Amino acid sequence: MTILVTGGAGYIGSHAVLTLKRQNKDVVIIDSLQTGHQGAIDQDTPYYEGDLRDSEFLDRVFSAHSIDAVIHFAANSLVGESVTDPLKYYDNNVGGAISLLQAMNRHEVKKIIFSSTAATYGEPESELIDENDPTVPTNPYGETKLVIEKMLKWAGNAYGIHSISLRYFNVAGADMEGEKGEDHNPETHLIPIVLQVALGQREKISIFGNDYPTPDGTCIRDYIHVQDLVDAHLLALDKLEKSPQTAVNNLGNGQGFSVMEVIETARRITGHDIPASIEKRREGDPAMLVASAERAGKELGWRPKHPDLETIIQSAWQWHQSHPNGYTART
Ligand code: UDP
Repeated sequence: MTILVTGGAGYIGSHAVLTLKRQNKDVVIIDSLQTGHQGAIDQDTPYYEGDLRDSEFLDRVFSAHSIDAVIHFAANSLVGESVTDPLKYYDNNVGGAISLLQAMNRHEVKKIIFSSTAATYGEPESELIDENDPTVPTNPYGETKLVIEKMLKWAGNAYGIHSISLRYFNVAGADMEGEKGEDHNPETHLIPIVLQVALGQREKISIFGNDYPTPDGTCIRDYIHVQDLVDAHLLALDKLEKSPQTAVNNLGNGQGFSVMEVIETARRITGHDIPASIEKRREGDPAMLVASAERAGKELGWRPKHPDLETIIQSAWQWHQSHPNGYTART
């Protein structure tokens, strides 16, 4: 079975490639290296550098390999940037997905696992968000992912391209064996930024608001270990293999932690005092985003193996200590 991983040089994509290869699956990577890292790609994995919007490029890849299924990660994913430059997000995310689905249709590839997001929900109406909750994104990033989910539904009807869209909550942590990790530039996510403070690369962590209606006033998120997240993709592929369908599943642990709790846990793990200051709220941040992952449990048989925050932060800490400059070698 050959699986095409788009965005295989990115944070989640590179962990997916690693897991697929550990399970002896054949993998082909596409990445534009717009945000991915050459250093995240192992030399023995077939890799094509290019843009999904280039259909001739896609034809070359699909003709060179007998691809059975696609896991589609490649996308722009910065919420703030999507607000200031929405057309970039429609062009790259939606345009890339259209072109990819057209190529799949031309080459008769009928299975795709799609990297979606909790940002499709917008401001939540319930404490535990489930897949039947309203989807009213509050930013273009979430909107583009929702558009793609809808496109996948119609593509399923029309062309028999079956899909499972996985709505990620806050993905964090690194490969437990230390082979891959998170490297964004610029980094905007809480856990890697907190760890950069512990490494002495930043002076402090700015807490974006402590006046939210939560017990300590800081925002609550559902952090999910990247390896657990990747496991769900493999289960979703099996599911599509056995029963073709179009489905949407949340991926989270069903447990929320506040920004303060994340910082305190990181202080314990790193032994660093991690100075913090309270700043104003970041635009578009809901107070609390926690998943009900009951459906993924029932439908995919998925159970997170590393649900505790300590393990998630510890694995990220191990990676950041051994790769203080990410995938860029120290000069
Ligand atoms: N956050 C923060 N300081 C930072 C980065 C993030 O206080 O430097 C907060 C952010 O407001 C949110 C939570 O940490 O409440 C998680 O943010 P992140 O960007 O990691 O993920 P998001 O929830 O936006 O997907």
